[in-house]
This record gives sequence, C-alpha cells and structure tokens, in this order.
Amino acid sequence: MVSRNKIPEAVRKQVRHQANHLCEYCHASEQWQYVKFTVDHILPLSLGGTDSLDNLALACFHCNRRKTNRVTASDPESGETVPLFNPRQDRWREHFVWSADKLRVIGLTATGRATIATLDLNRERIIHIRAADLEIGRHPPADDPIAE
Ligand SMILES: [Zn+2]
Repeated sequence: MVSRNKIPEAVRKQVRHQANHLCEYCHASEQWQYVKFTVDHILPLSLGGTDSLDNLALACFHCNRRKTNRVTASDPESGETVPLFNPRQDRWREHFVWSADKLRVIGLTATGRATIATLDLNRERIIHIRAADLEIGRHPPADDPIAE
C-alpha cells in the first residue's frame, strides 16, 4: 500500500461537480446510489499520477475496482492496445453511445470498446439496474447520445 494524504474535501466536491454527479465511465448517477462514488486517479499514483483535478475522475465502486491501475487495454475488435477512456481528455459522447433500448453502452472507438470490455460496463447486474431506472425516468442521463 502506498501511503498518501487524502484528497481534500474541496477537491472531491469539484470532481463531483465536474462529473455532473455521474460515474464518468458507466454514467450511473451517484444520486441514486447507496454508497458514494469514489475519486479515481486516471493516471494512478503508482505510475506518477497526481491529486490534481486534471487527473481525477468520479467513478462508481465497480468501475474503479475494475480499472485498478490500468491506463491502456486491448480493443476486443482489433486486439490492439489502446488508451482507456480518459474523462479529462476525452468526451464520453465521442467514444460511447447508448444502445437503442438504452440498456447497453456501445463503443464507437477502439478506446470506447476497450474501456467497455475492461470495466465491464454492460455487466448483467448494471443492465437490470438501468432497466429499472429507465422505467422511472432516471436513466439515461439527459444529455447522453442514443443510437438510432
Ligand atoms: Zn461506473
């Protein structure tokens, strides 16, 4: 374990605000969760990442746990190693789109596909949660693109 100072509360607040209170990977909304989302280091501290805002992203527990200290992953389509989605440098809508039924995230790019596979963004449990949230108007987030 690397010992370090905790990220100050004021910075965590900024991360949440910047993320619009969504997990910046799977776009689950923190508002409906039992547990608070975590602040993810996009470039892990162990690889030289810092606590500065441009290296922090809001992530749900599952996305954070699956990302671990990775910054690249294999694109399931080409087998190429590509960067994972970086919420501070990349725009979600340029890499992902919701399926027409709004239950699955579809990757539009190699980075999108690699991130979906690595973080398991279409795991069965989250699809059930999206379906339930969809029925009561909590899903998908208002500005997200949806496939035709
Ligand atoms: Zn997530």
